[in-house]
This record gives sequence, structure tokens and C-alpha cells, in this order.
Amino acid sequence: MLNIIQPKMQLAVCSDCHKLHNVKNIVEYKEKGKPAIASCQHEEFPNNSVSSHRNKCNNPLSTLKKRKDGTIAIPRMLYPKPSIRQQLSMLYQRPDFEDMLKLSGIQREEVNIYSDIYDGKVWKTFPFDGNTFFTPETATAHLGLLFNLDWFQPFTYTQHSAGAIYASICNLPRSERNKPENIVYLGFLPGPKEVGLERINHYLAPIVDELLELWRGWRVPKTYQCPDGLDLKVALIIGSSDIPATRKLFGHGSAVMKCHRCEKRSTYSHEYKKTHYGGMEEYDEWITRPADALLHRQYAQEWIQCSSKSTRDNHFKEHGVRWTELLRLPYLDPIRFAVVDPMHCLFLGVAKWIIKSIFVNQGKLSMDQLRIAQKRMNQIELPSDIGHIPPKIAIRESSFSNLTADQWKTFIMVYSTTILWDMLDDNDRKILGHFVRACNLLVTRFITEDDLKEAQERLKDMACIIENEYGPEFITSNIHLALHIPDCCRDYGPVYSFWLFPFERLNGYIGKIFEVSFSIVTALPILSFLFFFKKKRLLFRIISQ
Ligand SMILES: [Zn+2]
Ligand SMILES: [Zn+2]
Repeated sequence: MLNIIQPKMQLAVCSDCHKLHNVKNIVEYKEKGKPAIASCQHEEFPNNSVSSHRNKCNNPLSTLKKRKDGTIAIPRMLYPKPSIRQQLSMLYQRPDFEDMLKLSGIQREEVNIYSDIYDGKVWKTFPFDGNTFFTPETATAHLGLLFNLDWFQPFTYTQHSAGAIYASICNLPRSERNKPENIVYLGFLPGPKEVGLERINHYLAPIVDELLELWRGWRVPKTYQCPDGLDLKVALIIGSSDIPATRKLFGHGSAVMKCHRCEKRSTYSHEYKKTHYGGMEEYDEWITRPADALLHRQYAQEWIQCSSKSTRDNHFKEHGVRWTELLRLPYLDPIRFAVVDPMHCLFLGVAKWIIKSIFVNQGKLSMDQLRIAQKRMNQIELPSDIGHIPPKIAIRESSFSNLTADQWKTFIMVYSTTILWDMLDDNDRKILGHFVRACNLLVTRFITEDDLKEAQERLKDMACIIENEYGPEFITSNIHLALHIPDCCRDYGPVYSFWLFPFERLNGYIGKIFEVSFSIVTALPILSFLFFFKKKRLLFRIISQ
């Protein structure tokens, strides 16, 4: 059963700037004693000394409808905000829930192995009141959330992106954490386009308001084990989304500017007309200098206080930071919490880049060779417990088209060296060999400090050979970011604790729900959210398929 329930909080959305408003204020708005249309008072630059330069929105928020008993104002767009407290309250009614949370508090031996998020630095050292937040005593009452934002296309034939933000409770055992019934829905971003950070901020604001209250403390009125209630505290401890979404949520500029984890800036290549992260000779300098979280907060504050678009744009060009509502959470570290998702980075990023953009596009692997490789692949029988469908790497004239992250993972980790080795020259073998070894070290349920060190060295050696052999322009943002994955593991444990593979399945469910609701109510996407909430029976049917 999905834990989506009738939202308690209804907000009205401005259809222009996406600012959320209290429905009551709009419905009760009057001019000269009569119901009237309220307009959006949001100002983009409230600090501008000239009022006409503050960019007031003024978009109408309601329409007037005549009824028998008089005229009423009806909000033009509604936004149902899922209540985190209500969802938590429901989870705590379940007989097994608190016992599962307790497992996160089991004292763990200090061995040199990361086996789960609890072995990572963030869980072990999250500060609270002169102590640490996560302790055996607080295992059922202090919750740590991993949150994810994903965009999906609910319609097959049109460009419409809707977003969902949800969280998994890290205190739950790994096998339970990402089950749909254990997920907490934080909010949705209506389409039709992927909204920019300034607009996402409007949707983040009510989520952050509730998270702040939950950080200060809230008492669940009744739990299965505590009929008199239980005092809870909740903290977001990690944000794992695809890389553009992570940057947006934490207020970082895009990869075109700089790395969001360290001080490395990108370089523009006039020849290739794109930016790159070449310059591996400076590796030691930036790998040891993570970006400064306090400085990030300071730049974000300055950015929001800029009084015009041009000053904001200039400030952004210099520092690559924008304000994000998440920064209102006092404990949030906008660098550390913004992890590099290994699924996107390693498989959709680096694996695809090495094979397609380097080996194939640079003429190292021909279509004829790929056809031979495909034949070899088809002959390899995998043990049934792997259960992967072999990826199609040569289909007529196209190579490696539309492989999913999971197929790239299988191709790289299971097949690539066996089937391509004799087709590659020495340096390309080294590139592939280092990468495959690094993936095999990183993609494991238990990882040691020695494994992390070796993975780091392998990724570095791979990047150096690519740079020497093909040029600095071939060092992509993903190759650079992969070098930060070992540090993410030190903070959060093995990649299984924070990569996005389990969320992919969840997105599949939510995408389906949207598809159905959108085909019923197509004109006003926001109304479909209401549908979404009311169509529980339909929801179960889709999910049980
Ligand atoms: Zn507005
Ligand atoms: Zn970096």
C-alpha cells in the first residue's frame, strides 16, 4: 500500500510565478466588502529601492463564480501538499515499524568496513545538542531522511515534465527503506516544464517549513508501542538525485561552471565548443579541498539579497551559487549532503562516455567489431541468479542505443572486458580495466577503506590516461565527479545506501499513476494531483500489476 493520503494542507498556486498562497486568504479576499479576485503579491526583488523594479507578479489567483447564495472566489490552481506528520503518524501505527527502526541503533563494532549508512561519517557524527543525533537510545525517535527529486514524463506523446520529491527513512533496514509503503512523500512539482530553482523554491518552502518544525520536535499522538505518544525529531541528512537536480536543489550552478563538491572550475574549449574538467595535474590540489559550506551559505544569502536580475546574474557568474529554501535548515550541509549519485555518474555518465564517445566515436571500435562483440555476448551464459537481460550493443547501424543505467552497469561490470579486450589497444585496455575494477570495488554491499583508496586511484589513473591519450576536453564533469564518490561512501557507506537504482522503480510507479490521472484530467495538471490522492483503489491496481 502506498502511503499517500488525503493532504491536510491545500495551497493555491500562482499560475505565473508558482508562488504558493494560503487558500483561505484567497477565498476570503474582498474589495469594498464584496468577494474579489486576489492577485499574487510576490516580488522577485523585494530589496530594490524602486518599487516598480521589484517585479511584482500581480497574476490573478482566483476566478469569481456566481452561485445562488452569492458570488464566491475560487482559486485557479490548487496544490495539495502532502503532510509529512500525517504520513509519519500512519507509519508509527504499524506493528513492526518501531522494531525495524530500533535496528539502526544496534551498536556496531569499529571495524574498517562500511556496510550501511550507519558506518558513514554523517550518521556517526551528526551533531545535536552537544552530542550526536543518532544514538541507540534515539533509534526510534530521531529519524534521518534521504530525499530525492525526480522528473518524469507522464504523457507519452507530449513534452510534459512533472516532478516528485520523496524521502526514505534511513533508520529502516536497507531492505525496507525503499519499499513504496515506507516512503514519505514530501511534495510534487507540477509541469508542464521542469521548473527552475527560483520556482522550485516556492514548492520547497512549505516542505522546509514542516521539516523545521520536525527538527525542533513533534509528538506523534500515538504509536503502536507508545499509546501515549512519542517525541520525534527529523532531519534531512542526504539528498540523492540525478546530478542536475542535486545541483538545483542545493543551490549550485550547473556543471558548465564548476564542480559542486570542490573548488575545481570548468574550462571552456573553443575547439570543441564545450566545457570540460581537464587538468589532471592539479588533482592533488582540488581533491583535498572540498567546497566550503559556510561560504556557500554566505553567497546564497548575498544572491537572494541582490536587488535586480542583473546583479543576481553577475553574482551567480562569479560564485555559481543561488539561494535555495533548503538552506533554512540549520543543519544542512549543501556540499556534503549533495552526494554524487553513482548510478547516473558511473553508468549513464562515465561508462557511456568511455564506450560511446571515446571508443566508438574516436574510431577505436567499428560497427563490425561491435557486431562480433554482440555475438560473443549472446554466447555468454550468466548464472540465473544474475538474471539480467543482456544489453543490445549493436542493432543494425546503431551502437549502444538507449541502454538503461542497469544495462550499462551489466555491460561494464559483466561483459565489457571479456568481449572487447582483444579489440582495444594498450591504453584503451588500461582505461577500461581501471574503470571496471573501480566499479567492481565500489559496487558492493560491504566496502573497506582500502577498497575506497584503490577505487580512487583507479579512477584517477583512468582519467589521467584519457587526458593524455585523448586530450583534456575528454575529461567530462562525470569523470571528475566520479573522483568524489569514494568520499561520498566515507560519508554515507556503500553505494547501495544512496544510489538511485531503488528510486527508479518508485518513479516507474509514480509515472504510471500520473499517466492515468493525466489522461482523465488533462487541462489542469494540478487538478490531477487531487485525482492522484483520491484514486487510491486505482493506485493499488496499478501498483499490483
Ligand atoms: Zn505570482
Ligand atoms: Zn570536484
